[in-house]
Amino acid sequence: MSTIADNLQAVEATIAAAVQQAGRARSMVQLLAVSKTFPAEAVLEAIAAGQRAFGENYLQEGVEKIAAVARAQPDAAVEWHFIGPIQSNKTRPIATNFAWVHTVERLKIAQRLSEQRPPELGPLNICLQVNISGEATKSGATPNELPELARAVAQLPNLRLRGLMAIPEPQADPALQRAAFAQLRQLGEALRADGILVDTLSMGMSGDMTAAILEGATIVRVGSAIFGTRNYHKDSE
Ligand SMILES: *Cc1c(COP(=O)(O)O)cnc(C)c1O
Repeated sequence: MSTIADNLQAVEATIAAAVQQAGRARSMVQLLAVSKTFPAEAVLEAIAAGQRAFGENYLQEGVEKIAAVARAQPDAAVEWHFIGPIQSNKTRPIATNFAWVHTVERLKIAQRLSEQRPPELGPLNICLQVNISGEATKSGATPNELPELARAVAQLPNLRLRGLMAIPEPQADPALQRAAFAQLRQLGEALRADGILVDTLSMGMSGDMTAAILEGATIVRVGSAIFGTRNYHKDSE
């Protein structure tokens, strides 16, 4: 059986091959290890192997894990990203516990996150979730809504708008995977052409990270390829 450290090494090799194929620098792509449904011990194993950025989907589970990891590794400088659906009455623990939020799809949520972000923590990094065609979930702003939403979010004082995120429908064909990611890249390029200086494309998971990197992903969100198959589904709090 492979360990988390072995899996991280294999994912690293996949990322290295993809950035080379794309002619991009390795430093342009951050690996976000998605630890949802796995215990703090699994995160600690990944930390011991050098991983520092982790993604969580379920708020209650994530907040407990963040505290447990901080107790065990107070000096590890771990960066936590919230990548799950956001309920508007549950924004405060997101604003206080996480460094990044990838799943903002409405201005009202962004306003609450900005109001509730403790200024001493510095701005909360935000990606807007976009529902590109063939989206696996119904979540996300439509491409039409995006420019206005981005302009409004960029004004909020305690947030820093970083870019876009999408979860395309799983596809086995790499050409179809790339076509979906190309749409998100083009939406980011359109924002930049409008003067909204986003620098992040959060796209690509265990099954399609190579295609995402070839289309310009700057964060790949990888769960099962690192931690193994998720065999229980915990619903959000
Ligand atoms: C679970 C999840 C991932 C990781 O998926 P894998 O296929 O296990 O790599 C990435 N992004 C989001 C938003 C997720 O919910």
